[in-house]
Amino acid sequence: MSEREFHCDNCEGVQPFEAPPCVDGHGTDCPELVCTGCGAAVLIATFAFHAPQLTARRRRPSTHRRAA
Ligand SMILES: [Zn+2]
Ligand SMILES: [Zn+2]
Repeated sequence: MSEREFHCDNCEGVQPFEAPPCVDGHGTDCPELVCTGCGAAVLIATFAFHAPQLTARRRRPSTHRRAA
């Protein structure tokens, strides 16, 4: 079992997080970590985090102005 230290908002400080018993079949690769301080805060460790590409579509303000 590997412990990692992260900041916990509940504990208002850095606490060791440990992987909870995984029920999703992740095994040792389970990204979930539970704060051992309060036992409530679950942290999803994003080891290889890929930022979702926001398809920033440029919206053109439709200018349907009719000349009077
Ligand atoms: Zn899991
Ligand atoms: Zn905590």
